Amino acid sequence: MFDKILIANRGEIALRVIRACREMGIQSVAVHSTADADAMHVRMADESICIGPPSGTQSYLSIPAIISACEISGAQAIHPGYGFLSENANFVQIVEDHGLTFIGPSAEHIRQMGDKITAKDTAKALGIPCVPGSDGGVPDVETAKTVAADMGYPVIIKATAGGGGRGMKVAQTEADLVHAFQTARSEAKAAFGNDEVYMEKYLQRPRHIEIQVFGDGKGGGVHLGERDCSLQRRHQKVFEEAPGPCISEEERARIGKICADAIGKMGYSGAGTVEFLYEDGEFYFIEMNTRLQVEHPVTEAIFGVDLVREQIRVASGLPLSFSQDDLTINGHAIEVRINAEKLPNFSPCPGKITAYHAPGGLGVRMDSALYDGYSIPPYYDSLIGKLIVHGRDRDEALARLSRSLGELIVDGIDTTVPLFHTLLQEKDVQTGDYNIHWLEKWLEANL
Ligand code: ADP
Repeated sequence: MFDKILIANRGEIALRVIRACREMGIQSVAVHSTADADAMHVRMADESICIGPPSGTQSYLSIPAIISACEISGAQAIHPGYGFLSENANFVQIVEDHGLTFIGPSAEHIRQMGDKITAKDTAKALGIPCVPGSDGGVPDVETAKTVAADMGYPVIIKATAGGGGRGMKVAQTEADLVHAFQTARSEAKAAFGNDEVYMEKYLQRPRHIEIQVFGDGKGGGVHLGERDCSLQRRHQKVFEEAPGPCISEEERARIGKICADAIGKMGYSGAGTVEFLYEDGEFYFIEMNTRLQVEHPVTEAIFGVDLVREQIRVASGLPLSFSQDDLTINGHAIEVRINAEKLPNFSPCPGKITAYHAPGGLGVRMDSALYDGYSIPPYYDSLIGKLIVHGRDRDEALARLSRSLGELIVDGIDTTVPLFHTLLQEKDVQTGDYNIHWLEKWLEANL
């Protein structure tokens, strides 16, 4: 096992990894930008190293600075968290070239899944059902028109290198197509430096269902059921739950096995998520994320496993600590993402926290790097906390969510907490009757 791990991230996810390290008796090294000198992850780690100025590109994304920090501190492995360098195959290669261990899958698997066309081809070859779509990239508008006419409208144009919901455009009719195609292309170029796009049938009322998988890197793989992340704004998740309110035990076993077998066949190592759209009892693969996800705690809650601990164990060469048969679901868990944002426009709202109180009690977990008097810097993501609740069933989890949201105090800035108070009053949220378009429509009508 490693003696010392460097965490190439900040915020709540850095804390999450530090906590796992401490329980495993591993020393932790935090890295931080000058803007984060007072951040909680810096205070909580065993050691910390400043790696650059506030801008992410010059600090948390600076590969030379992070490798140097490993060499200075003697850390043997790097946990990337999510975002930043977590899905950067080039980084993984450099980490390995320096004789260090990347806590995650191989550079090759990251590359394979990072390109969405290759990912879909791989998924198809492994027997995973996919959304009908273009055969690879769509080079020009004329081809796009032909593909759309064959598939039938509406269609969605997506960036091959996409992520975070950027570079995606829907065309309802051929009249929309030219504009949608060109916008998707230029957004893709601006965001990812790669303007290649592909097309899919646009599903009208699917749910977002994702399967948590774990590979041992030696041909073995297990699944930890699904998460339903259908409540989204601008293709970004805001409320996630496990198990999915509409997924039966048989469906879970079927799609779970397909995914577990697939990652086994790939020789995949560590945590991964296979994302699907789900409509009328069918699963349609959209992408695979080769990292720990923001919403991993709902899976941890219902299975009683520590996914970060498992990532560290597998990266150090140990076998998985559970087999498929050991994994049974207990109750229901929900996570809400608390962002420093001002409603109704969700505009970023950094600033000083004048009072902070985290909720507690049975079945409540608050993952956050906030503290009283902390100043949220304006340079990074607006996620400031995740409230995760666990109950014996969905109704109990909902009651616990409402109760704990009421206990939470974050003063001094605007947050998305009021949104959740209101959402919990909605019948569809109470019954779990929603699809990926529900929240957008609700926001239009209510905010
Ligand atoms: P990203 O990597 O940018 O997050 P994804 O491919 O994972 O992109 O898609 C993100 C979200 O966009 C999905 O959860 C869903 O809400 C929507 N979406 C993607 N593909 C389709 C599709 N074919 N039909 C309908 N909605 C889609």
